[in-house]
Amino acid sequence: MIGIYGGTFDPVHFGHLRTALEVKEIFGLDEVRLIPCSQPAHRNSPDSSPKMRFEMLQLAVKGQPELVIDRRELDREGVSYMIDTLKSVRNEFSNCPLLLFIGTDAFEGLSGWHKWQLLFDYAHVVVITRPGYRQQKLSEFLSSKLSDNAEKLNQEDAGSLYFQPVTQLDISATAIRNIIRTGLNPRFLLPDNVIDYIKLKKLYKGSHFPNKPLIE
Ligand code: ATP
Repeated sequence: MIGIYGGTFDPVHFGHLRTALEVKEIFGLDEVRLIPCSQPAHRNSPDSSPKMRFEMLQLAVKGQPELVIDRRELDREGVSYMIDTLKSVRNEFSNCPLLLFIGTDAFEGLSGWHKWQLLFDYAHVVVITRPGYRQQKLSEFLSSKLSDNAEKLNQEDAGSLYFQPVTQLDISATAIRNIIRTGLNPRFLLPDNVIDYIKLKKLYKGSHFPNKPLIE
C-alpha cells in the first residue's frame, strides 16, 4: 500500500511529518509519498518557489526512507490538480491500494476539488482527524463510500472513505511564516535543518523588518 500526502509545504513542519510517519505505521504502508504542489488550485501562490519547497522537504525527511518526496506536480505544467496526480501515480503502481491522506480542513473543501468524485476511482481517501473529531453529516455520495473497516482498504485498490485519528500538532505553515515575519524563533515547530535553509535563503522575511535579524 502506498500513501499519498499532497500539500503546499511552505514550509514543511512537524504537523506534516509526524502525521506522515504515524499513518505509515498505522496502515503498514510501504511508503508515503509527500507531493508538493506547483500551482495550488485553491489558494494564492506560495511565498517560496517550488524548488525551495522541494528542497526543504528533502532536508526534512533525511534518514526516513519511507517518506519519499515525489516531484511529479512540480514537473507538470499548469494548476496542480490531485486527480491528475492520482492518475499518474496509478499508472506507476497499477495493482496496489493507494491511500490519499487529507486533513479535515482539506476534506471540508473536497467537493470544490476538480473532478473530486473521480478521486475515488484511483485511491481510497483517508481523512486524518484529531482524536475526538466529530464527523459532519456526509453527502449521499460520500456516505456511499464510507467504510469503518481498515482491512477493506487493503483488500481493494481504491473507492473507500475512511477517517483515521492521529496525534495532531496544532502547527500550520501560515503560523510559522507569521512567526518568522515577526522576527520570532520558529524552533521546535519544524526541523532545524529546514530552519537553517529558511535563514540561508531569507524566506518569509517581512519588508517591515528590513534590518532586523529574523531567526537568531
Ligand atoms: P498553510 O498554513 O500554508 O495553509 P498547512 O500547514 O495547512 O499550510 P499544507 O501544506 O497546506 O500545510 O497542508 C498539506 C496537508 O497537511 C493538508 O491535507 C493539511 O490538512 C495537512 N496538515 C497541515 N498541518 C497539519 C497538522 N498540524 N497536522 C495534521 N495535518 C496537517
